[in-house]
This record gives sequence, C-alpha cells and structure tokens, in this order.
Amino acid sequence: MNSCGARTDCDVVIAGGGIAGIAAALHLADHGKRVILCEATRRLGGRATSLVDQRSGEEIDNCQHVALGCCTTYLAMLARLDSTRHLRWDREQTWIEAGGRRSTLRPSALPAPFHQTPAFLGASFLSPIEKLAIGRCMAAIARSNVDRWRRATFGDFLDRHHQPEGARRRFWDPIVISACNLVPSRVAASSALKVFKEGFLASPRAAEIGVSRVPLASLYDAVGPELTALKGHVALGARAARIDERRVELASGEVIRAGAVICALPPTQAARLVSDERSADIAAIGTSPIIGVHLRFDRPVIDVPHAVLVDRPTQWLFRKDEAGESVHAVISAADEWVDLDEDSIVERVRDDMSACLPASVDAQLSHARAIKEKRATFAATPEVERRRPTQAPERAGGIVLAGDYTQTGWPATMEGAARSGAYAAEVVLGLPRGELIAPELAPTGFSRWLDPNS
Ligand SMILES: Cc1cc2nc3c(=O)[nH]c(=O)nc-3n(C[C@H](O)[C@H](O)[C@H](O)COP(=O)(O)OP(=O)(O)OC[C@H]3O[C@@H](n4cnc5c(N)ncnc54)[C@H](O)[C@@H]3O)c2cc1C
Repeated sequence: MNSCGARTDCDVVIAGGGIAGIAAALHLADHGKRVILCEATRRLGGRATSLVDQRSGEEIDNCQHVALGCCTTYLAMLARLDSTRHLRWDREQTWIEAGGRRSTLRPSALPAPFHQTPAFLGASFLSPIEKLAIGRCMAAIARSNVDRWRRATFGDFLDRHHQPEGARRRFWDPIVISACNLVPSRVAASSALKVFKEGFLASPRAAEIGVSRVPLASLYDAVGPELTALKGHVALGARAARIDERRVELASGEVIRAGAVICALPPTQAARLVSDERSADIAAIGTSPIIGVHLRFDRPVIDVPHAVLVDRPTQWLFRKDEAGESVHAVISAADEWVDLDEDSIVERVRDDMSACLPASVDAQLSHARAIKEKRATFAATPEVERRRPTQAPERAGGIVLAGDYTQTGWPATMEGAARSGAYAAEVVLGLPRGELIAPELAPTGFSRWLDPNS
C-alpha cells in the first residue's frame, strides 16, 4: 500500500472519480477486473457531488441535480449501488408566471406522444397561437432526423418552424437552457432534439423528474466497499499528474501500473494529461457555466417540490425542506451572471422569486450561498458536437477516455457520463459497443412508430 492507500498494481487504473469513472469502475470490477479508481478530491461524484458549507456547517450539493426517467444507464448505476431508493420522483411540473399565476404540466391518460396535450392546452402562460406553433414544431421534432441537424443550432430549427418570440421565451428557452445548459441559438440542434424526442415524446415515464433526498455524494457511498469486495480500491486525494498507456503517476510521485488506463477527467484536465490523436479535439471543447443558489427564509415561500419561473433568468426553484423555507435556485447558461458577486446574484434571484412567488416578498432571508460552476458542462455547440472524442483510442492499448464530453449522443448529463463509463469499460473488455448500456425506456402509445433515433 502507498500513502493514499492504493496498491501499485491492478488490471485497470481509472483517473477521475466522477460518474463516468465510477460507472467504468463498477462495470470492470463486475467483469472480474481489479480496478483502482483515483480521485483528486476527498469525495466521489465530481461535478455531481456535495460539500460542507463552511458558513452554515450543512452538507449541501454543489447544485441541484435532476435525473429524468429516460436516464436509464445512470439509474442502473444507482441501482447497482442500492441508491435508487434515495430518489424522489415527480410526474408534474409547475410553471409560475410573474404575478403568481400557475400552470401544471402533467401526463394524461392519452397515449404518447399526446400524453401532455391536455395539460399543455390548459397552460396559461402561452397564447393559443403560441400553442399551435409549438404543437406544429413538436410534430416536426417527432419526425426529425437528428443526424441531419448536426451542423445547425436548435435556434435554426425553431426558425425553420416559425416559432413566435413568446413561444421561444416562455417555452423553448427554459427547457433547452436547463436541459442543455446553452441558449437555443448556440446549442446543437441534435442535442436539443434528443431531449425532446427521448425526454418528452417517447413515453410519460421519460419526463418524470427524479431528485435525490440525500446529499448527492451519499449516492456513491457504496462504491468503495463494492470495489474493495471485488479486489479493487478507491484512492481519494489521489491526483493524477501524468498518464500514459500503462500507468498513472500521482502528484505525490507514486505510480500505479495497470494493464489498461482510463482517463475519466473533465475535458480541461484530460486535454492537459492525454496526448494522442484526440488531444486537439479535447482542447477545443468549450464550457458553459451554471450557478446554484441555496437560500433559507424565515417562513415558507414555496409550496411545490419544484417550479419553472416563466420568462425569468432564474429558470428553476427546488423546495429543499418540507416547510418550503429552504429553496435552491438554478441559473443555467449563466454567462451573464458569473462575474457578479454573491450579493448581486442573491438579489437577482430574490427579484425573480418576488415576481413569481408572492409569499416570498416579505420573507426574511436568513442564509444564502451561491455556488458558481464556471465550467459546469461542455458547451454543446454544433462545432463541439463534431469534436467530441471517442472513448476508444485509434491504437489498441492506448488511453481509453470516459467523461460526459466524449461521444455518447447525450448532452452533458449524468446519463451521458454513466454511458461514457460503460463505453470505456466495453473498450477495455473488448465487448461490442452498447453491451453495457441499460435498455432504454420503450416508447409507448403511438411513439412506438416514431423511431427516437431517426
Ligand atoms: C452546476 C451543475 C448542475 C448540473 N445539473 C445537472 C442535472 O440536473 N442533471 C444532469 O444529468 N446533469 C447535470 N449536470 C452535469 C453532470 O453533473 C455532469 O455531466 C457529470 O457529473 C459529469 O461527470 P464526469 O464523470 O464526466 O465528470 P466529472 O464529474 O467532472 O468527474 C471528473 C472527476 O475527476 C476528478 N479529477 C479532476 N482532475 C483530476 C486529476 N488530475 N486526478 C484525479 N482526479 C481528478 C474530479 O475531481 C472529478 O471527480 C450538472 C453539472 C453542474 C456542474
């Protein structure tokens, strides 16, 4: 054993203990490989983790993370860790306009892809003309071929389908920005189309919203014991300083040798440490920020589990306690916010809350903490989509990549990360691509005749 507790020989060494690294490690260990998972920090989970807020002493998530029913490979990973029991599922989405008027989107008994139609037609935040335009555009999405839209933005797609300004601001923007972390005029059409096809149209279960009832890091508590039971090991505080095809050298100087190496680092780190035919593409992957704001009030301010604030820069609010006194606000694609100081961020969120939640106007704020994730996700522009690297190296035996930014067909999500880890494990094990991916939710109703991948 060395100082971080890692043995120096194993079958596979993985640098990076985010979801991609965890997923790869579990698959490989389940296939009999001795794995060492090296994580630079003291906790697993990477960008989907928790920290202790020094001001309040509470364990908080870096940002609220949401899984959808269609995230089957991520959910299978949680099931492997016996952690799905920590998720709470909601079928309804509450949309709140300035002034407090609410609309609830929920599935009806109608077959997919029409399951949301009755609630959508009853929504107050869109005019009849906007609803008609959105309905036509959804029909075009259902029929669209994702591959044909790889070079265009989703803004181009909305232009092609004549979407009015109000429909963009109040419907397409909040969904696309929160799902893809980029505005429609920048995000690759293929990414956004995937979200609508698989998350909205395929089946009522696909859009169910799952949130963790425990701090995110607790979802991965079983990773260490599971790997140890399978003759592997998690090394925390183990920062990779150099990576080559057969070894990872840690910042401490210790070297871990292995039959195969997986780099499951975020793209900025991978670009520094991996030098092969994929390096230029990795280095060209830009990022997009998200801000999460934890707020605690002296009285209840929110009475639903979560809400979309219509046409406000704060896209989502999540209720964090039963009483509705603790709230988490999320601002995705937060480029205009990242240079603001914490007070200004909190003030802006409070403005949005006051506009939409009358109960919050007189509430006193007792605690606030804004967390800026400047490089929250890769920026899924058409250019970046073309550059996303494969997990497999060109040359057999080279460094295998994992990470949400690699080619998964998914936007930067926990599902994309879990899939990338599974694909990386397949490369190491010599399995056909897709063998370790969990079965996708079967389309239901009329969606069975709409190929989600067409
Ligand atoms: C604010 C925010 C909100 C988000 N919201 C959602 C959401 O609601 N739903 C959703 O599905 N996705 C969401 N995402 C995206 C999701 O968190 C990521 O796509 C996913 O966690 C990426 O996992 P990964 O394993 O690819 O990368 P990472 O999580 O970045 O993992 C890489 C790991 O490598 C470690 N590391 C870095 N350098 C080294 C080194 N030199 N040596 C060893 N280890 C190193 C890091 O500490 C990290 O643990 C959000 C992301 C952010 C930041």
